[in-house]
Amino acid sequence: MKNIQRFIGICFLLLCILFLAPCLVSFCDVSAEEKDSERLVVGIPEDRCPIFYEDPDTGEIVGIGVDLMRSAAEEAGYKAEFQFIEEETIKDALDNPKYDVIMPFGSAIKSTSGQESIVSDNLFQTPFTLLVYGNRVVPPMNKLRVGMLSSLGGGADTVRQLYPGIEIVFYDTMPEAVKNLRKGKVDALLHNSYVWSYVLQKPSYTDLKVQPSAMFSMDFRVGTLDTPVGRSTVERLNKGIENITDTYTQAVILDYTTRRLYRYDMSDYIVQYGDVGILVILVIVSLVMIGIFRQKNLKLQQEAKMRWLKNHDALTGALSLQGFRNKVQSLLREYPDNSYLLNYINIKNFKYINDSFGMKAGDDFLCFWINNINSNISDDEAVCRIESDHVAILRKGKGDNMILKEDAAAVDLVKNYFMDRGEEYRVQICSGIYVLTPEDYELANVDHMLDLARVAEKKVRETKKDGYGFYNAEQWTKGKRIAEIVSHLPIAISSGEIQVWYQPQVDCKTLDLTGMEALCRWKHPKMGWISPAEFIPELEESGQIFELDSYVWETVCKDLKRWRDLGIHHSASVNLSRSDIRDDRDIPGYFKALIEKYELNINQLRIEITETAFAENPETLIKTSEKLREIGFSVEMDDFGSGYSSLHMLKEVSVDRIKLDMNFLTGSGDSEKGRTIVGYMIQMINSLGMAMIVEGVETAEQADFLLKQGCSDMQGYYFHKPMPAEDFEKMSLL
Ligand code: C2E
Ligand code: MG
Ligand code: MG
Repeated sequence: MKNIQRFIGICFLLLCILFLAPCLVSFCDVSAEEKDSERLVVGIPEDRCPIFYEDPDTGEIVGIGVDLMRSAAEEAGYKAEFQFIEEETIKDALDNPKYDVIMPFGSAIKSTSGQESIVSDNLFQTPFTLLVYGNRVVPPMNKLRVGMLSSLGGGADTVRQLYPGIEIVFYDTMPEAVKNLRKGKVDALLHNSYVWSYVLQKPSYTDLKVQPSAMFSMDFRVGTLDTPVGRSTVERLNKGIENITDTYTQAVILDYTTRRLYRYDMSDYIVQYGDVGILVILVIVSLVMIGIFRQKNLKLQQEAKMRWLKNHDALTGALSLQGFRNKVQSLLREYPDNSYLLNYINIKNFKYINDSFGMKAGDDFLCFWINNINSNISDDEAVCRIESDHVAILRKGKGDNMILKEDAAAVDLVKNYFMDRGEEYRVQICSGIYVLTPEDYELANVDHMLDLARVAEKKVRETKKDGYGFYNAEQWTKGKRIAEIVSHLPIAISSGEIQVWYQPQVDCKTLDLTGMEALCRWKHPKMGWISPAEFIPELEESGQIFELDSYVWETVCKDLKRWRDLGIHHSASVNLSRSDIRDDRDIPGYFKALIEKYELNINQLRIEITETAFAENPETLIKTSEKLREIGFSVEMDDFGSGYSSLHMLKEVSVDRIKLDMNFLTGSGDSEKGRTIVGYMIQMINSLGMAMIVEGVETAEQADFLLKQGCSDMQGYYFHKPMPAEDFEKMSLL
């Protein structure tokens, strides 16, 4: 066992020796080599690519001269260490003991301090050539004024020996030398052609040319002071130089001269790519300018669009109200001799068009309409879409007949718009026309003129199905008065201007009081008594009627409670407007709450709903009426006989009492016929088993007649006129 262990140990040792031996040998060799080589400090001029230069990538000093000298030194047993000389010329460097040798020298020269030097054998031939500016013809070498780099001071001596007549000017840097060559201060620059091949790679030197005719060669030797050490060094180096073959020399030269050694600095890039750069800058500047221009253009376009939108309607392209104001004002100034008129046009039931055919169809129709108007007006006329389906046109008038004719022609196309597209609907157009006065040309108050045309349009809308109507001053005064009344309502209610009056209802046989109708009265501080017939329709339209009615109902309940407390049990009829009924308003609940609040009997409050309201909005009203009756209220159909379909209503709607208005049946036309109709109506209502009352009874004959026909409940001036609550109270207490 021990033997095996020993065997393994020996094997391991042998293996280690086998691996380590080569390393040890090479280590010893290196030490020997290093020991044999002597350090030789070689001073060389700086920045003389490709002869001597510092490799920018490795930081090593390299070049043709460096490589050849390193080889020669190695051959001579030296390890050459290259240092760039700090002195201005190599003559100066000769005197610096830190360098063992200096190069390059063409021949031996004296140092700056005057000491003799010795030089080695020629390391390689450097061909010297002239560099000229453009096609300038240079004089022969002997008469030449040539520029050289200061660091070539030694070479300059050789040149002077070769060409005694030559004049040499020294420059510290190559750019300075080139500048003076271009200026003509020297005929040419002189340097070895390897340096030229490097320098001429600079893009800004393309105007310089090497002149081969002036070529001559200079030796490239190593020099040092003529001392014993110097002589021994040179002697050793010569042996090394002797061993450098021509082939090797050529290979080194070729290697450096075919490399692209020149490195571009910023100025080179500018020269090389200057044109492209300028082009790129121009392109960028142009792009930026185009960008700015486009931006500006876009902004201008947007501003123009905003301006356009301010003055135009986006849907139809017609003028907006603001645009119309401006255009009308300028037209009135520009064409004071045109007799203008202003049309205010409105489509009846436009909401129905939108609801039935869709918004898009509504929009298309509006565009068609405006286009149609546009094609019928000239430049000194104007059209505007004020809002929705409201359109205004400023047109030249040519006498009343002409106006109507023209309007009819334009309007007919529009009226048949849906019919022409296969829909069973004929558009109804209401048009109000206001003829401008001389004052309008002066004041140019467009809003005022529009108001007047609108008054005329409204009149048409209220009175006719559709068509035209001219503005007249009365309408205007009335419209103004109504607007004032309507806007004053809230104050009127709170200040007690609105009063509730009562008109008694009687049994004609006994003249007993059977009830009364509550009717509102308005005592305006400036206008005096205003009839409900005047302001109720306006409040209905402006959506304020509920404010008034709820006030009236509450007042009635208060009065009823007060009278009941005094021991008199009255029942009153109140009017319910069609506009009081809205989806979000629970009218039956409202009345129920009222009677609960004032602790009244349900039979004390009767609710009158006018017959025409049932006809216009049957579903909702029938529902409301049914609900009221379910609760226990008595519902009356007011103004029976005033509508077109009274008999139909009688069948459709179930109410507690029919209220027949004498005025509707006997007021105009053949009064005898009216009486006959009233007579038959009473018979019919009686035979249907319905309760009834006749209102508007003004005479004893009427009362007699009605009584004979079978109706005893009556209301009218013949019995009592509507009276203030206090008067009614006094009367009923008697
Ligand atoms: P209506 O409900 O049909 O009221 C009857 C109208 O006939 C009252 O006019 C009344 O004064 C009038 N009248 C009564 N007897 C006679 C008569 O013998 N001859 C003539 N020619 N007229 C008579 P009034 O008070 O001017 O009211 C007019 C309409 O205003 C009412 O008609 C009613 O529809 C409405 N109204 C009045 N007060 C209110 C109210 O508080 N709320 C609502 N929603 N409407 C009311
Ligand atoms: Mg009534
Ligand atoms: Mg009535």
